[in-house]
Amino acid sequence: MSILIKNGWIVTQDGKRRIINGDVYIEENLIVDIGKIKVEAEYVIDATNRIVLPGLINTHTHVGMTDMRGLADDVSLDNFLQIMWKEEGERGKEDIYRGAILGIKEMLRTGTTTFVDMYSDEDVIARACKDLGIRGYLGWAVVDEELTTQEGDPLKNAESFIREYRDDDLVTPLIAPHAVYTCSEETLLKSQEIAEKYGTLITMHISETRREVYDHRKKTGMRPVEWLSKIGFLSENLIGVHLVWLTLHEIKLLAERDVKVSHNPTSNMKLGNGGAMPLVEMLDHGLTITLGTDSAVSNNNLDMFEVMKFASLLHKNERWDASVTNAQMIVDFATINAAKALGLNAGSIEEGKLADIIIMNPEPSGIPLEKNRLISHIVYSLNGLNTEYTIVNGKIIVAQGKFLNEKED
Ligand SMILES: [Zn+2]
Repeated sequence: MSILIKNGWIVTQDGKRRIINGDVYIEENLIVDIGKIKVEAEYVIDATNRIVLPGLINTHTHVGMTDMRGLADDVSLDNFLQIMWKEEGERGKEDIYRGAILGIKEMLRTGTTTFVDMYSDEDVIARACKDLGIRGYLGWAVVDEELTTQEGDPLKNAESFIREYRDDDLVTPLIAPHAVYTCSEETLLKSQEIAEKYGTLITMHISETRREVYDHRKKTGMRPVEWLSKIGFLSENLIGVHLVWLTLHEIKLLAERDVKVSHNPTSNMKLGNGGAMPLVEMLDHGLTITLGTDSAVSNNNLDMFEVMKFASLLHKNERWDASVTNAQMIVDFATINAAKALGLNAGSIEEGKLADIIIMNPEPSGIPLEKNRLISHIVYSLNGLNTEYTIVNGKIIVAQGKFLNEKED
């Protein structure tokens, strides 16, 4: 299939961060041409007065929990996890599928084209990704065997999931050890072994709360990142999630190993974790920062536009300095940085990149478009429901705000 997007404001996110008024031509699953294009296409989208943007990449969620939103509000992480684990013990595959469908639809409708997930039963979530057409980096959750509600050994389950999906075009499998308080050294090193054997990424919650750091120091004499460094777990293939409570020494350890960062400001604030991820120091040390929503139970939506705004505001407020973040930096986190972290040929609108593109209509919000304010509008003014078109892997999934292949009731 070929698609021609006509006459839009194209936020390319290329090396020069160019914004062009023009057209984008897509053939099959790739962006073939950008500029003023004279070509026939099977599907033509008029993007006049619209913003054409690389699809957003959500680097941390638990999409199978989306149907549980509103179940554990206004409690700290400890209580939150107790409620979740009790609930999850009673959930079957159909519940997880239903949750995943809800969450994936919300992401596609609000401008996300790729997400990274952490959960058990990722085979069910893979089915939901294929059914709806989103790009999923699905991390099978691993905890110590005595803690799991999964049937069988989580490590073995993760390995067979990776084997099953490693050649898929939309689903990329990975392994997701849950946290230092649920995974022993042995479990972590075995997870790493599996990741190395199949060449996959690893993702893990790290230093989300002060309590986690305190307990881990009590147990091991070391802070989580120090300990992970000592056991040889830090690597460029690791996406560390949260990373809120860090010392400068730990930031250096992360930077030395080029660990990628998934920043989840909305979830951190909602759970009252306190403080803020040390973004300024992390950027100073060259860490790749990306953004995640976390689950709909600790957010309570999967709208990456909201996460972009919160990310920017949190650090300005924390530092008493409005200049520590800027809108371009935040758009980078949600697009090109995330693509780099995943090793995905996307995150910008350039020839040869995967056709993962969204088109935003600012009209319902009454926002006039001006070229030099587009990036500002994206971060500070728009929300996910301004998304009019969502294209993933060269397929139009959402058109004029509606799912294209969904039957009308
Ligand atoms: Zn999480």
